[in-house]
Parts: sequence; structure tokens; C-alpha cells
Amino acid sequence: MDTLIVGAGFAGATTARELAEAGQKVLVIDKRPHIAGNAYDRLDDGGVLVHEYGPHIFHTNSEKVFEYLSRFTAWRAYEHRVLAVPDARTGVPYPMPINRTTINRLYGLNLDEAGVADFLARMREPREPIKTSEDVVLNSVGRDLCEKFFRGYTRKQWGLDLSELAGGVAARIPTRTNDDDRYFTDRFQVMPVDGYTAMFRRLLDHPNIELRTGTAYEDVGAGIDRRRTVFSGPIDEYYGHRFGRLPYRSLRFEHLHLAQCSEFQPVGTVNYPNDHAYTRITEFKHLTGQPHRGTSLVREYPTAEGDPYYPIPNPANEALFKQYEALAEAETEVFFIGRLAQYRYYNMDQVVAAALALARRLIDAPVVANALAE
Ligand code: FAD
Ligand code: UDP
Repeated sequence: MDTLIVGAGFAGATTARELAEAGQKVLVIDKRPHIAGNAYDRLDDGGVLVHEYGPHIFHTNSEKVFEYLSRFTAWRAYEHRVLAVPDARTGVPYPMPINRTTINRLYGLNLDEAGVADFLARMREPREPIKTSEDVVLNSVGRDLCEKFFRGYTRKQWGLDLSELAGGVAARIPTRTNDDDRYFTDRFQVMPVDGYTAMFRRLLDHPNIELRTGTAYEDVGAGIDRRRTVFSGPIDEYYGHRFGRLPYRSLRFEHLHLAQCSEFQPVGTVNYPNDHAYTRITEFKHLTGQPHRGTSLVREYPTAEGDPYYPIPNPANEALFKQYEALAEAETEVFFIGRLAQYRYYNMDQVVAAALALARRLIDAPVVANALAE
């Protein structure tokens, strides 16, 4: 065995495929009973394709990543749209990210684009320097919109105030003065036609790849003879939490099939920033385009305990990660890759790009002293 790869998500599967194509023998293990990591999808009892671990919409500006994955799937064009309901009693929905429609509907105005820009210029609270997510939001839209759309959602999602999170978290959400109501503006916005799991099945289908699901590293790692390890689980777990636990935010997913309802909500996702214990409801048929008499939804309930889903970006956590990163850098034959191992709030395409880069390094330079993936 040349390389043991821990994790069959985007990080592990992409690395495995690249090494396998370069002629290396690879063993991929995952402690879950399935492949595809958090992108895993399946038919639910009602026959609707659902994402087990919450909605996954593929979007990227990277032609390289898009073309790479296109070898393993055909795509369906899909532009995600999100509405936010800041007050569940009235139930009035507003486009999210905030755009011209959001402003005009909320404040009873009829502004054109320039008018919205002027309005936001008056509303915003300029901050300098911009460090936290609170700085980002106040600096772009001001306090009223911050309280209506961001503070409550963020508190629920992260268990922290906006001011306790790095700016990059809220900066994922742009502010628009036009009518564009798409959640993403990337050049490629698509969904795999047969789903993510089917795409992963093809990605991992190579004579040099052996796959064992339901297999945890802690149970089998010591007994597997290999030259190298590529680890895509939580980095602090790999090192036995020796500097303390890196915080990861978790979610509880409540899946629901409605047999008698063909459309529950008008768009893929509706956010509830200020009411309910869940942050958002996603209706999968919008994402997948699947025709079905019924429909299936997922509600996301953020939790502190449970499987790790999100690194929590703030200075204290980044400092703790740096301690683990220093251990990783001293490794010569262990490589850390992916959202949990690199402790970065990566989207799927960024993980694929990072895995392609790591594989390139492993193929080009068989013995590498500096082990942490860039
Ligand atoms: P993972 O998918 O987490 O894979 C790691 C794998 O390693 C897991 O399967 C785990 O079981 C396994 N593992 C861990 N430890 C061990 C061990 N000790 N032994 C064996 N196996 C182990 N990205 C987007 O681009 N668009 C979206 O719309 C989007 N939506 C998201 C919604 C939610 C709710 C979440 C949580 C994430 C979302 N993402 C989205 C991010 C996306 O899920 C990640 O970028 C991507 O799945 C990360 O891939 P990965 O391989 O790094 O990690
Ligand atoms: N956010 C918010 N209100 C919203 C949507 C997002 O406050 O209606 C903030 C919140 O902190 C969230 C972050 O922006 O965690 C990033 O949102 P995104 O939709 O990208 O989160 P993900 O899909 O990764 O959970």
C-alpha cells in the first residue's frame, strides 16, 4: 500500500483518484457507512433525493475544478435563491443577500439602483479596521439590517455574537443594489445530475483504489502498512487533542417528507434569522429538479455537540489551530487536507482545488519534508 487516505469526502476522494491515476495503490477509509462525506445524498423513504447533511449547492469560479469534476458527472444548471423571513409572525419574505427588492419591500420605498446605493451609504456605519463579522455587516448595511437579518441568525448558527467571529464569515454574504436575487454569482452554478453520491462512486472507481467504509482510523490505522497517510478528519483528533479541543460547530438535521404537498416554499432555502431553533429550511426538489408528487425538506438546528461540520473562525481558534499546524508541518509522511483537517471554512470547490494541489505535490515530489497542504 502506498497511501492510506482517511475520509471519503471531497478532500480524500479527489486525492485518492489523482494518486491512483499516477499509479499509486491507495486505501480510502471512512468511519461513516457511506462515501461523499458531508455531500452524501440518498433517496429518502418518500423517494426524493435529499442531502443527508444539509443542502449542498455546487458553485465555483474555477474552470479547472469544474472540468475536473465534469469527468465524473453530468450537470444540471441551478442557481440557488434564498429568502429570509425576519419576523415569522408576519411571514414576509425578503431576498437574501440583501438587494434592491429587500430594501424597497422592507422600508416601503421605490428606489432605483443609485437610490439604494445612497440609502445604504446613509445606513452604513463605517468601521475601521474591519476585523469581525459585526464590522463587516455594520460597515456595509448598518445596524437596522444587521439586527433584522444577521445578528440573530449568526447567534443561532454559531452560538456566538457577530463580534466574536472573524469577518470572513459574514463576508460570504454580499450586499447588492440591483435586483440580482441569486445566492451565488460564480461562473459555474450546477448540481450533479445523478447526485453527489453517484459522482463520488465514479470518482472512487479505479483499480488502484480500495475503499472501506464503516472503518475508523483509530481502529485500523496502526495496523495498515503504508508509506504515507492523508488525513481529512479533524486535525486536533489526529493529535489526541493534546493542546485542547478545536471547536467545530455541529448541526442536527431534521428531515421531513410531505407526501401530499408538491411544493412547500417558493425557493430552495428560506432563512429564519429571528425565530425558531432552526436556522433555515431547504426544499430539495428546487436544487435537484426532481419531479415528484410529494416533497422533502430539511431543517438545520445548530448545536455545540455532535459531528464536526464547521470550523469556527475567530482569533482564539485560529491560534489553537496554529499549534496543531506546527505539529503537522513537522510531519514528513502525514498530510492534512480538507475543511476539518485544515480548519478552514472551505466550500466544496475549494476543497477539490486544495486536494488537486496536494496530489500534485505528492506525485511530483515523492518525499516531502513540509507536510501541511497549502
Ligand atoms: P468531509 O466531507 O467532512 O469529509 C471528511 C470525511 O472524513 C467524513 O466522511 C468523515 O466521516 C471522515 N472521517 C473523519 N475522521 C475520520 C476518522 N478518524 N476515521 C475515518 N474517517 C474519518 N459547500 C459548498 O460548496 N456548497 C454548499 O452549498 C455547501 N453547503 C454546506 C452545508 C452544510 C450544512 C455543511 C456542513 C457544509 C456545506 N458545504 C458546502 C461545505 C462542504 O460540505 C465541504 O466543503 C466539503 O464537504 C468538505 O469536504 P472534506 O472532504 O474536507 O470533508
Ligand atoms: N448569515 C446571516 N443571515 C443569513 C445568512 C447568513 O447572518 O440570512 C451569516 C451567518 O453568520 C452565516 C454566514 O452568514 O453563518 C454564512 O452564511 P452561508 O449561507 O454562507 O452559510 P453556510 O451555507 O456555510 O451554512
